[in-house]
Amino acid sequence: MSEAQADEDPAAPGSGRRERRSAGSRDGRARSEEQSQSDEQARSEGCAPLSAGSLRRPRMAAAVAAAVLFAALGAVLAVTTPWDPLPGPVPGGHAEPDPALDFSPAEIARSRAFDAALTPPAYAGLVTGLALILVLGLTPLGARFIGLVTGGARRPHPSSGNAPRRGLRHWAPRVLIATAALTVLLRVAGLPFGIWRETVLRRYGLSTQSWPEWLVDQLKSLGVTYVVYAVALLLLYAVVRRFPRYWWTGAAAGGFLLVILVSFVYPIAVEPVFNRFHSLQEGPLRTSLLAMAERDGVPVEDVLVADASRRTTSLNAYVSGFGSTRRIVLYDTLLKSPPARVESIVGHELGHAKRNDVLWGTLVGALGVAGAMCLLHLLMTSPRLLRRAGVDPGGPPGRRSGAGAADPRSVALVLALVAAGTQISAPVQNLVSRRIEARADVHALNLTRDPATFVSMQHELSVRNISDLSPDPVERLLWSSHPAGPERIAMARDWARAHGTPEPPPLRD
Ligand SMILES: [Zn+2]
Repeated sequence: MSEAQADEDPAAPGSGRRERRSAGSRDGRARSEEQSQSDEQARSEGCAPLSAGSLRRPRMAAAVAAAVLFAALGAVLAVTTPWDPLPGPVPGGHAEPDPALDFSPAEIARSRAFDAALTPPAYAGLVTGLALILVLGLTPLGARFIGLVTGGARRPHPSSGNAPRRGLRHWAPRVLIATAALTVLLRVAGLPFGIWRETVLRRYGLSTQSWPEWLVDQLKSLGVTYVVYAVALLLLYAVVRRFPRYWWTGAAAGGFLLVILVSFVYPIAVEPVFNRFHSLQEGPLRTSLLAMAERDGVPVEDVLVADASRRTTSLNAYVSGFGSTRRIVLYDTLLKSPPARVESIVGHELGHAKRNDVLWGTLVGALGVAGAMCLLHLLMTSPRLLRRAGVDPGGPPGRRSGAGAADPRSVALVLALVAAGTQISAPVQNLVSRRIEARADVHALNLTRDPATFVSMQHELSVRNISDLSPDPVERLLWSSHPAGPERIAMARDWARAHGTPEPPPLRD
């Protein structure tokens, strides 16, 4: 039985509830003006008032749009992902990644032990977080929890329309409070695993934070997450209410634009929340890095240094933003490395900048979110799913309501679907990311023509960050956004062979 058929079934519990409530409205201050406006609007969209069957065509259109957008996404990824980052033949064949060539037995053992210590909190935290949001979103518990925190646990009074008898009546503050309560709850549930992880980082000397500093970071991160979710959900519910039947169009367009906006403002709005940045000081390193960028034809006016050392001993560099917010950032922990190694790292970042990897990733992500919004429409207009989530599919008889999906108590369901979608898409994102990272490595090698320094830098990165030297297939799927150190080193040896330059010898000789 299709969802639409289920919705038409008069015996279905949700339809029954909707009937009772509409009847109540008529008994009250007659039929509310708002409801007639909503019907009027639905009629002006060229169809009957929002009812069981009237969602069939919008759902069909959403399904077609989702299929088109995901097909486009797949085609874009298939065509633009650098599946072969080092094109051309490699004389003598490809070098095999082998940690034993370049890492001492002690380094390999330390990496294994660190991975073994981090794996339990990582998996336990992931499973706990997912289980919690799925239970809240896919059972009536989430809707009840939201009812509780928005003061609307009691049954809505017939004359109060959408709003519960007590507590907040307007949908917007209810969405904001529901979002806050759920993000805090999820963060608190993840806290023990975060503490566990931080304890491991300390034991291995990777964390330089005190517990209060760590806690402040957690609060800041929670704040950023909340602001992003709150803005996104306010816009989503506004669109659902404004366009009760075809809200997937607004949600897809809005989601697309929001992803681009967030990525653009991220370097200036979010990064300063966690780190202070200053320009790399005048000197030979800065001069050589800017000269390398110029040689590469990438316009770089400044190289920024982040005060990462107040949090970690690990080494990193990254590119973020695009257009006027694009920046190349080095961790201050990296500046103690020999300048040639820093050049090797910056060469990699210039590869990202030159190929506009951040902008490309943003556009691809935005396309994915647009497709996901069409899927969200299909799911959020499924009476079966709404009932499962404890939300009346008939929806509140409020102004410009988009049926059940417009009920702020469905926030838990939305977050559960977002979490599931994010988790399902992670392996694809990581797969594509690893190829893009490999292409940036090739760019660094082309630019510096110094595979030996590249190998020593990758060795230093892996040892200092205690990277997993040979992640298992599940870890690769879930978490590996970069090739493992030995793979990056093997590719540098391939590059050397392909370019007829001396192949970097094993570091363990
Ligand atoms: Zn990179």
